[in-house]
Amino acid sequence: MRNRVRAAPADRFEVVLLDLDGTVYVWPDAVPGSPEAVATLRARGCRIGFLTNDPRQDRAGYAQRLEKIGIPAAPEEVVTTGVALAVLLRREGFAGARALVLGTPAFRAEVLAAGLADGDGADPRSIDLVVVGGSADLGSRELTTATRALRAGARLFGSNRDPVFPTPSGPAPAAGPYLASVEVAGGVVATTAGKPELPIFEAARQQLGSGPGAMVATGWTPTWPAASRPAWPACWSSRAAPPSRTWPSRPSSPTWSAPTSQPSPGSPDAGAQGTSVVASGSSS
Ligand SMILES: [Mg+2]
Repeated sequence: MRNRVRAAPADRFEVVLLDLDGTVYVWPDAVPGSPEAVATLRARGCRIGFLTNDPRQDRAGYAQRLEKIGIPAAPEEVVTTGVALAVLLRREGFAGARALVLGTPAFRAEVLAAGLADGDGADPRSIDLVVVGGSADLGSRELTTATRALRAGARLFGSNRDPVFPTPSGPAPAAGPYLASVEVAGGVVATTAGKPELPIFEAARQQLGSGPGAMVATGWTPTWPAASRPAWPACWSSRAAPPSRTWPSRPSSPTWSAPTSQPSPGSPDAGAQGTSVVASGSSS
């Protein structure tokens, strides 16, 4: 099976947003053909944005990963959930608030860049908000502090709710299970910034400086609820993709190929399987 990138002709889409896990790579292996597909899109004049829900590294870290599999990338081309959370929290007026940020040092730095005060080590009752990256960095000590802060009234934000991400040896727990544990213990529901929610796309638009051209995004994950699709402006997904295409058990599948046709932008076929299209035209 081939996962075709048919919906990104350079004359139609100015910015192409690429998912990483399962789309560009199944770390540490490139999805076969993805370096060539990225090079082809760039040669046709598309700007590329790499959007990942993986909360463990920062933009520079993912740019280095991409370099290792043969895809030259600048940190400015990578959009993480840490950056998306910072955009969201700044917009929501949390600058100056005391935040307990749970995650890797890279994630913590990206979130705290919103102008938050680092609440690590503070009395849980003095915490204004808890921000969960969602990784093995969340242990019993962190969960206990978060629980007490949330039960004392702190707001809860999270990276994303993905249940698993692909690895060469099979699915591994993603950010969702870690966030769910904090929600259950804290008795609150988190606001998330990663895909499929809007903040990461807003961050992409800010970061990539999209002009009047359209954006197209790949990597719709079948487990994302259909009800969340309206969160993407003027966005739709084509056919439901079998999970095996999005989360391949082996890095040899799926493979990429160069664009072969130009479906009309309103057509349900505008996105290949597993591909969603953001067709919002104007920046704001
Ligand atoms: Mg993915």
